Amino acid sequence: MEPTTVARKSLHEYSRKRDLDKTPEPSGSEPAKGGTSLRFVVQKHQASSLHYDFRLEAGGVLKSWAIPKGPSTDPREKRLAMPTEDHPVDYSDFEGVIPEREYGGGTVIVWDAGTYSNLTERDGREVRVEDAVDRGHVKVWLEGEKFAGGYALTRTGGGGDSRWILVKLRDEKADARRNPVRSQPRSSKSGRSLEDVEREG
Ligand code: MN
Repeated sequence: MEPTTVARKSLHEYSRKRDLDKTPEPSGSEPAKGGTSLRFVVQKHQASSLHYDFRLEAGGVLKSWAIPKGPSTDPREKRLAMPTEDHPVDYSDFEGVIPEREYGGGTVIVWDAGTYSNLTERDGREVRVEDAVDRGHVKVWLEGEKFAGGYALTRTGGGGDSRWILVKLRDEKADARRNPVRSQPRSSKSGRSLEDVEREG
């Protein structure tokens, strides 16, 4: 299959969950732009409960996990990450208010964004991120403002278990003294807080 066909198929759940006439979120109909650097984004999302949506561009979509406590810069911290549906790549810029009665209703800011490179290997060969997600283990190097360096996402348990763990790898970017969730609450895109966006729409 063409990559775009794969992406469209993988966005079926995204479209099914949303009434795209009622939410300001991207429709996903824009084809993914080709490029050498892959994007990552962490969106802070005040829905029924606050969480951080961690997304990696792979295979023409954004592979996504919801992290209740957000990523950490401390390698000793394991953060629960619940996989969510693939999102369109242009979602990485989305900041705004999803109407209360719609899916994911609440406020979203682009909390951190940048590019990443894939570090996932098996038997000394690179594993594509989309395949690594299927296998349940992904290792990436992030180049963001709040988050940088190596991170590993690993599915725990077997079978249909949908819990993953995100952990900072031990490298020069690890820093147990930082706590971006507490000390850097604002958008890396606009400098706005969730409250600012909620007020301004
Ligand atoms: Mn979310």
